[in-house]
This record gives sequence, structure tokens and C-alpha cells, in this order.
Amino acid sequence: MLKEKINKIEFIDLQAQRLSVSNLISEAIEGVLAHGGYIFGPEVKKLEEELQAYTQAEDAITCSNGTDALRLLLLAYNIGPGDAVFVPTFTFASTAEVIAQANATPVFVDICPHTFNMDIASLEEAYAKLDKNLKPKGIIAVDLFGLPADYSKLNDFAESHQLWLIADAAQSFGGSINGKRVGTLAASTTTSFFPSKPLACYGDGGAIFTNDKELGELIRSLRNHGCGKHRYDHIHIGLNSRLDTIQAAILLEKLKIFPAELKRRQEIANRYANALKEVVQIPIPAKDVHHAWGLYTIACHPQQREDLINTLQAKGIPSNVYYRKPLHLQPAYQHFPRAGAQLKNAELACYKVLSLPMHPYLLDDQVDFICEQVINALS
Ligand SMILES: *Cc1c(COP(=O)(O)O)cnc(C)c1O
Repeated sequence: MLKEKINKIEFIDLQAQRLSVSNLISEAIEGVLAHGGYIFGPEVKKLEEELQAYTQAEDAITCSNGTDALRLLLLAYNIGPGDAVFVPTFTFASTAEVIAQANATPVFVDICPHTFNMDIASLEEAYAKLDKNLKPKGIIAVDLFGLPADYSKLNDFAESHQLWLIADAAQSFGGSINGKRVGTLAASTTTSFFPSKPLACYGDGGAIFTNDKELGELIRSLRNHGCGKHRYDHIHIGLNSRLDTIQAAILLEKLKIFPAELKRRQEIANRYANALKEVVQIPIPAKDVHHAWGLYTIACHPQQREDLINTLQAKGIPSNVYYRKPLHLQPAYQHFPRAGAQLKNAELACYKVLSLPMHPYLLDDQVDFICEQVINALS
């Protein structure tokens, strides 16, 4: 029974991870229960130091979740009515949600059909066409599925148009370009520690990375009700967005095994690629780009996808579609401006993409079995 459970293919296997670190996480949680510093306990500061060291960003600030990480940066950048922020339309709602909630305007941009990340040509189009009543302020790029976006082009564009650039790296913690880790690829970066993300806690959590120490200090104040030096000294209008000490303690343990997990994700991605490259569109990162493999997402013919999902399901293989609808076609977001009447690459991707199981505890045999079933279903 236990063996069966362990060998069952999970989309993301958090139980296998927990078993692999045996009681280290329980001990870490017990440690917090013993000292009782549930808010801003010593583990929070320690985690921020470790995250800073891992990413090599100048500063790392934890917060409640990946959405708040974005929200805190928009607060720091003082975004409001009449301000426009460019975002890819093929992303999770958070990326645009925080802009709309700041009463600013998200402007939707198309993606590249192979990387699924923001297309610079479409960004240029959206910028050129922007309503004269809106003031372009910034860009939030997304590292979809774990693949860092094209930051050399994005940084150039941002700089030449005097925009700020945020990297929404909720899916790409651990990725890098030319040896520069996610967290340092844009002026500021956000990530999420939601349970399904590459580095995950047992609940909600998030972080912000920046090379600007002053911005870091501002975020530290904003995440804790805009406090100054003293707890009841309020120098900004902030919010409550602290990472719980227990989650920090869990993340400290998970960060220790993270490099080995990342390596295993890469091996699994290579195995998928070798078996599937002739059959479907597979993710192929550019030469110096290290994919974090948060998700392994293939693209197939739209008419084949539902059959493929059903065939896999019949064989006990879970799969998921991220995302079935781009944000510019969602009821809550369709009235916001976009680069063109249609954002064709994103619209088409929604009918083609399928994410296969991806986690560091997949066995080679399981990956081979999944590939066999994909090939069978499509031939
Ligand atoms: C998960 C995710 C977020 C939000 O993170 P939460 O921690 O769930 O708030 C933001 N952007 C993207 C691209 C995500 O995948």
C-alpha cells in the first residue's frame, strides 16, 4: 500500500519531498514552538540572509505571498490612477490584479510562441499605442513556467523609456541567465513560496529581491504597517504582509536541499526533451539560460490536446493546463488596453499548452512511462 502510494505519479509530489527530509522539518517547526517568536522570529532574518546569499541580490525581504510581493513594490513605486504598467497577458491573475487594485491600468502584451514570455515587439506596439491620458510607468515581466524572460532586451527597453522593471519570478526561483540568478536580473524581483512553486513552504509566503538597499528598507517598513524604528511609529501607509516564522523555518530546511532538487529537475527536463522532441513542441531554453523547471510545459496541436489529457488520465498520469484563457479575454480584465485587438500568440497558446508532471522526486521510469503514453496518444 505504502509502496503503491510512493510510486503513484503526482503532478507535484510534496509528500515525497517531506519523506526525503524525514524529521528535519518537524524539528524546525518544533524549534519555533519552543521559542515562541511566531512573528519576526530569528528564522525570518536568517532566511532573508540565506536568500540574499543564494540569489546574490543586495537585499532579500520576505512577505506574506507572491501577490503581496508585487503589491508592496507597486506601493513603493507609488503607482496610482492614470499610470500604465505593461504585463504579459499569458500569466496568473496576480500579475495584473495588483496593478488594477492600485487603481492604475494594466496594459496587456503578447508573448513569444516558443518561450511563452513577453514579446518585445508587442511591448513596443503597446507602448507606441498607449492612450495619451495614461502615463507609462513600468513593466512587470513574468518568467513563465520557470524560464527567465528576455531581460537583456527588457532592461534596454525599460531604460530607454524611463520605466521601472519588475521580474515576477513566482515560478522561476533558482533560474539564471549567464550565471546571474533570478533575483538580480531586473531592478526588483518578486517570488512566491506557495506550495507548488520551485521553492515552497507549507502555506503562503513570498519575497522581494533588489539591489537598491533604500528600496529594500522601504519595503521592510511597508510590509509591517509602514513602521519606522518603533513599532507604533508609522512613517508610511503600509499593510500587514509578514512571513510567519514557522514558514521561514520550513523554508530554511528546504533551501538546503534546493540545489540538489534543481539539478534533478534539470535531469528530468532533459529526459522529457530527449523522448518528446520529435513529437511535440518542447521548452528549449537559450544557451546561457537556466530554466528553473517550475512546470514542464509542452505544446501540441489544439485538436489533440483534450485526447492527450484523457489518455494520460486513463493511465494515472495527471496533467494541467496553465492557462486556458489569457487575461485580456477574462471578464474582469477584458476592458483594459492591450497591444492589439488580438494577442494571437497567447490566444493560441491557451489551446496548445499542457503541463506534464514535474517535481524532483519523479523516477526515471516514471518519466519514461509518461513519455511513452504521450507518444502513443499522439501517433
Ligand atoms: C503563483 C504566482 C503568483 C502569486 O503568488 P502567490 O504566492 O500565490 O500570491 C504571481 N505570479 C505568478 C506568475 C504566479 O505563478
